[in-house]
Amino acid sequence: IRGRKLIVQIIPFENRRQILVTHDATDTDRIEAMRRDFIANASHELRTPLTVIVGFLEIALADPGLDEKTRTAHLMLMTEQAQRMQRLIEDMLTLSRLESDEYPLKRERVDVRALVAQVANDARALSNGRHEIDFAVDGPDVMGSSEELRSAFGNLASNAVRYTPAGGRIELRWLRGPNDLRFEVIDNGIGIDEQHISRLTERFYRVDKSRSRETQGTGLGLAIVKHVLLRHGGKLAIRSTPGKGSVFTATLPNTSLPG
Ligand code: ADP
Repeated sequence: IRGRKLIVQIIPFENRRQILVTHDATDTDRIEAMRRDFIANASHELRTPLTVIVGFLEIALADPGLDEKTRTAHLMLMTEQAQRMQRLIEDMLTLSRLESDEYPLKRERVDVRALVAQVANDARALSNGRHEIDFAVDGPDVMGSSEELRSAFGNLASNAVRYTPAGGRIELRWLRGPNDLRFEVIDNGIGIDEQHISRLTERFYRVDKSRSRETQGTGLGLAIVKHVLLRHGGKLAIRSTPGKGSVFTATLPNTSLPG
């Protein structure tokens, strides 16, 4: 079979017969490669802030007579880097919990109106008056994990704020689609080039690393969104025009409707 890695074993059996066992190892290899990539990326992401912190600590030790102003500036930079490490570790733990069989999805009735209002509030706090942010709830409640959906919807909304220049407009909508339920986030921000779209939910994949970091991104937000939706039987769709804006649509199946 072209492009696949097959392991073939010949096992002797009674009466001089043999058993031929084939095992398709393509997926195991792929998962192993993804795991290696993840560990390499995560180590790199953690090493960068740690290098900054160690550098300033060494300066402080070498020069105990540093003036108050410089010392405070160094402490602030170290705090920023430590907080960046904290965010990364939180997001990595969230992802591993979402993937683990030990934490199966616990469904409850989700008050979507309250949830979307909270998400809009958080987005407004992050925007700090720099964007116009509106929301509309026209769909019904669903059965799901409020905490996970809040994190998924919240990530989409905060991305819209982070990737839309000041003065931009952001709309959050919960509605009933033709065959499903939808949370849409529409922004008129920087947009995304076609070639990146299919890779955005990969861990640590970013179109512009420095922009992501400046706005406190970990590169794990959309991976978290994807996993939350998968656990709920839903999916994420992304449409975007560079320079014009993006629409992120999280869909949940009709089976999430309360019985
Ligand atoms: P990050 O922490 O870098 O924002 P995410 O996983 O949330 O990580 O998003 C991955 C990348 O997708 C971002 O770095 C950014 O390049 C792109 N992206 C996400 N949302 C938007 C958006 N609304 N507009 C433009 N680009 C976006």
